[in-house]
Amino acid sequence: MNYEQITVAGSGVLGSQIAFQTAFNGFQVAVYDINDEALDNAKNRMMNLKLRYKEDLGATDGEVNEAYNRISFYTDLEKAVTEADLVIEAIPEVVPIKNNFYKDLSKVAPQKTIFATNSSTLLPSQFAEVTGRPGKFLALHFANEIWMNNTAEIMKHPGTETQVFNDVIKFAKAIGMVALPLQKEQPGYILNSLLVPFLEAAQQLLINDIADPETIDKTWMIATGSPKGPFAILDIVGINTAYNIANAKGQSGNDHFIKLANILKTEYIDKGKTGSEAGEGFYKYPNPNYLKPDFLS
Ligand code: NAD
Repeated sequence: MNYEQITVAGSGVLGSQIAFQTAFNGFQVAVYDINDEALDNAKNRMMNLKLRYKEDLGATDGEVNEAYNRISFYTDLEKAVTEADLVIEAIPEVVPIKNNFYKDLSKVAPQKTIFATNSSTLLPSQFAEVTGRPGKFLALHFANEIWMNNTAEIMKHPGTETQVFNDVIKFAKAIGMVALPLQKEQPGYILNSLLVPFLEAAQQLLINDIADPETIDKTWMIATGSPKGPFAILDIVGINTAYNIANAKGQSGNDHFIKLANILKTEYIDKGKTGSEAGEGFYKYPNPNYLKPDFLS
């Protein structure tokens, strides 16, 4: 089945991007959020997205304005989904909020409508029953700055119908994504299953005083030909996120992670060094050492 009408529920950081990217690729999009204030924020985000699409993709004024005009905004869930072939959920990463949302959605969405969650850390099987249509539910996970970082990880839960999985893969391609199918549920999908252990291994080298961040990054960059090492990546992810992960693992009793969380907090976060957005993390920005011509020599 080809989807034509798409509803995006939750119009925050990711929801605004998903809605705009979908409309930019010619689909009619309904955006749903809980109140007018949230929708006003989404409209402001989209004004900024128009600029980014022009800057980063060379889009014309006509193209970004047409994309915006294909989007309609709702605070009434029933009205937002009356025509929907697909609802993409991008509401907060909080289990009771998502549970209540799917309970409400299942009551008002047409029988044909497919539901997809953009959740980064929760598995679709957790919500499959409450959607009232487990066969028509799966995960469709985007990366931040979707128009540039155009991965779409599409993940089944055990009850997802094969046809639905295939149709969502087709849809992801139709909105300019590189579709990355996951045949089974995997916490962290493909990207974070690789990235999180990689970044943790680098941080352990640092806190065990094996080598400094630049030496570790240099090793990785020269030996693998990668443009960035783990500490450059951590600066982009943000040290707060790295701290939250280490802290959660530390709380389950792992001493290495307790030590890591303490160092990230006292040496970086408390000193305002939270990553590239803040101007400093493991490197100083806008001209971090790892981009300097002699870094690898
Ligand atoms: P956000 O906080 O920026 O936006 C959440 C939006 O949901 C807000 O506009 C809020 O008003 C709205 N909302 C709250 N309750 C709602 C409800 N009951 N119904 C409808 N809307 C509701 O969050 P975000 O960063 O866009 O994340 C949303 C989802 O996307 C999460 O599941 C997150 O894991 C996932 N995600 C985030 C990123 C990222 O980099 N931020 C990347 C990939 C996936």
